[in-house]
Amino acid sequence: MTTLARRMGTIAPSATIEISRRAAELRREGLDIISLSQGEPDFDTPTHIAQAGKRAIDEGHTRYTDVDGTPELKQAVVAKFERDNGLHYATDQISVGTGGKQVIFNALFALIDPDDEVIIPAPYWVSYPDMVRLAGGMPVCVECGDDQGFKLTPEQLEAAITPKTKCLILNSPGNPTGAGYHREELVALGEVLKRHPGVFVISDDIYEYLAYDDWAFATLAAVVPELFERVLTVNGVSKGYAMTGWRIGFGGGPKDLIRAMAMLQGQMTTNPSAVSQAAAVEALNGPRDFLTEHLEIFRQRRDMCTEAINAIDGLSCRAPEGAFYLFISCQGLLGRQTPEGDVLESDVDVAQFLLEQAHVAVVPGTAFGLAPWCRISFAAATERLGEACARIDQACRTLT
Ligand code: PLP
Repeated sequence: MTTLARRMGTIAPSATIEISRRAAELRREGLDIISLSQGEPDFDTPTHIAQAGKRAIDEGHTRYTDVDGTPELKQAVVAKFERDNGLHYATDQISVGTGGKQVIFNALFALIDPDDEVIIPAPYWVSYPDMVRLAGGMPVCVECGDDQGFKLTPEQLEAAITPKTKCLILNSPGNPTGAGYHREELVALGEVLKRHPGVFVISDDIYEYLAYDDWAFATLAAVVPELFERVLTVNGVSKGYAMTGWRIGFGGGPKDLIRAMAMLQGQMTTNPSAVSQAAAVEALNGPRDFLTEHLEIFRQRRDMCTEAINAIDGLSCRAPEGAFYLFISCQGLLGRQTPEGDVLESDVDVAQFLLEQAHVAVVPGTAFGLAPWCRISFAAATERLGEACARIDQACRTLT
């Protein structure tokens, strides 16, 4: 048996990947599985962006580029931050990586020393705690339940900060709950952070464009300018521009951190794909009408699913402010018995039951640090979502 590094024992395979694997297995057996487990828009990349990628190949942009982004893409990112967020970065304050994921990974590796603490509001995106552990740090997960809109309060932040705290990760609108911080809530968190100059913040804004109703997206570095030098503002093209497979993410932050991140990336992957960078330039600089069209479709799906789920006995959820997830309480199903005689004791049991009985793949809240909940993604075709909710309803009716 291969003796793996000890660090491999500190992380677990992502639960989202495990559910997808089992769903794929059942699909291979011929079953019609509806997967609501992946956080990926079902839209194709808009044509003008895809064309820019094709043009890049034809024009020979197929070689190594500058490690942390071409000058054209960095300039487009600077313009994006200026236009959308009122954030004024220079190109040497911009880092482009292979997805927002690599940008966050680079930042944590550049920031964290052994045993440094990183505050992560829970529920959280599955990757944050594992990334922190891989970097040698200690994730400090702070439970933020439904009663507080799944958002970190200033009191909780103050209580969680210790002399070892190196960083806070904020994600708004968030995965898995879709909870979005209001400007005033960020200001209040900023007041706490101002009192603790040693704490850095990673603001993960990857779902920025997915904001519903009267909730307006705001980002910490813009809302609390005094923190500008202590924030890495992370974003990317995956979610908003339907470009998950192109793998382009970016961040704006202090020059010394950006340089350190480039050094790390230079030893890991070098530059992100040259072709994808060219497409991302077009995404950021080109026409963006499709953002409003996609948003309206997502809003309709959100409303449809929220209503359908809340009509099911044993399940309940709030309508999220943003992103494309519903975080569903399955507390009401616990203790009930399946037709096979098994008692549902946890959200993991519920997710397994829904996969096996309803043939719908959802992710248990345990994976995101809060139980008993389940996450569904409504970034799937509208008819399939309707069908999935009907199947979940039917399956729940078989419980006694
Ligand atoms: N941040 C959050 C909260 C996410 O949910 C994801 C993807 O699921 C990412 C970052 C990373 O996105 P990407 O690496 O595709 O840019």
